[in-house]
Amino acid sequence: MSASPFTDLPLPAAMQKNLTSLGYQQMTPIQAQSLPHALEGKDLIAKAKTGSGKTAAFSIGLLLNLNQRDFGTQALVLCPTRELSTQVAKEIRRLARFKDNIKVVTLCGGQPIGPQIGSLAHGAHVVVGTPGRIQDLIRKNKLDLSRCTTVVLDEADRMLDMGFFEQIEGVISHTPKKRQTLLFSATYPDGIKQLSKDLQDNPVEVTVEAIHSTSQIDQRFFALNGTRKEDALSRILGHYQPESTVIFCNTKAQCADVADHLRAQGYFAAALHGDLDQRDRDQVLVQFANRSNSILIATDVAARGLDISDLQAVINYDLPRDPEVYVHRIGRTGRAGKEGLALSLYRDSEEYKLEAISEYQSLTLDQESLSTLKKTSDELPEKPAMRTLAIAGGRKDKIRPGDILGALTGDAGIAGSAVGKIDVFDFVAYVAVERSLARKAHGRLINGKIKGRRFKVRIL
Ligand code: ADP
Ligand code: MG
Repeated sequence: MSASPFTDLPLPAAMQKNLTSLGYQQMTPIQAQSLPHALEGKDLIAKAKTGSGKTAAFSIGLLLNLNQRDFGTQALVLCPTRELSTQVAKEIRRLARFKDNIKVVTLCGGQPIGPQIGSLAHGAHVVVGTPGRIQDLIRKNKLDLSRCTTVVLDEADRMLDMGFFEQIEGVISHTPKKRQTLLFSATYPDGIKQLSKDLQDNPVEVTVEAIHSTSQIDQRFFALNGTRKEDALSRILGHYQPESTVIFCNTKAQCADVADHLRAQGYFAAALHGDLDQRDRDQVLVQFANRSNSILIATDVAARGLDISDLQAVINYDLPRDPEVYVHRIGRTGRAGKEGLALSLYRDSEEYKLEAISEYQSLTLDQESLSTLKKTSDELPEKPAMRTLAIAGGRKDKIRPGDILGALTGDAGIAGSAVGKIDVFDFVAYVAVERSLARKAHGRLINGKIKGRRFKVRIL
């Protein structure tokens, strides 16, 4: 695919400049195919997968159409889950930096509705959220979509899987007939065709087949030959010692077992599955992304749509049946020009899966023996570089990342370079600090103030 720079597009200078500052020079394939149509105001039905850069593909046009002086909601993005909504809103806010004062609000279920009503009262140019909650807010007369002229359905197939068909159509019926509707979906089941028929006007279709190139990924397959899977996993981890790993299992129960097994061996590992409440889920993801945990164990469903990339290794504890799922899983490693590592365990009876995977990528895959790997030693695994502190205050307390950084550093504080990722949620904030400095950082926070107040702080 030939490279297409953003400068090929008729974008205002301020937008170009902001894209450059975000490090966006070349469009991703989905952006190169969608943006010219989206900027012309056409409806679009786009087939694209996670990690393809969809958010910018629909947000650039949407942002250019906003009139900042009108505080009415002018753009609506429907997403399947709260996490995806949060990710999309974050990306839209970054892309919106070329203009002043664009307000982006997320409205999702599983969270108190009161504060959401409050935030809408001040106006919101862009609303991002899940269909159910948005429908509630329309019913309560708290959200007016009568001037909402851009509508986006992100991961539409997933929204249909979750049973949102009626809600989606219900919500969109409150927007003007004359609007732009952009529909993004990884697959094209009948429900999607129906949605498009009901909601779109002469849409342009674009498809981006290729996901990630796997050429940068070192793929290794280990025959179990009677070794217990748990032992094989320990052996692989002990040998490669990856700093960040996602382990894929086919079931939730398996994820929980693997997490227990690894923690018992001293690994900093946590499972991500549907039964976690939202707060625990956020916590698991934060601790992995900020390098306080080195292993995340997940099912495909739990990991879908999450922006976890740049992993050193992906391990298939269970091989997926579908080679496309396999390629999608391993595509989370080997990004940004770095070599990735994909390690898979399989039983004799699963050789047919290996063949399908090999055929799908037109590659011959080497099968290796576990016995070539270093024996597991009794030493404990290397600890992750960072440790997380949880602060019992967040955005609703007007805490911003800079406030936390300020409270930790300064006179007799810890060095700014020892502070890692800071994540601020509505009611809680997490900050990663170098592991050896966790107690000092904790002391600093509990004895000091953030935004003039004292907050409870825990070391996780
Ligand atoms: P999707 O919604 O398709 O899963 P996202 O929109 O979340 O993908 O983008 C995935 C990642 O790629 C994000 O971290 C985003 O900031 C980054 N990204 C998107 N477009 C570009 C680009 N043109 N150049 C560099 N990075 C990009
Ligand atoms: Mg997305």
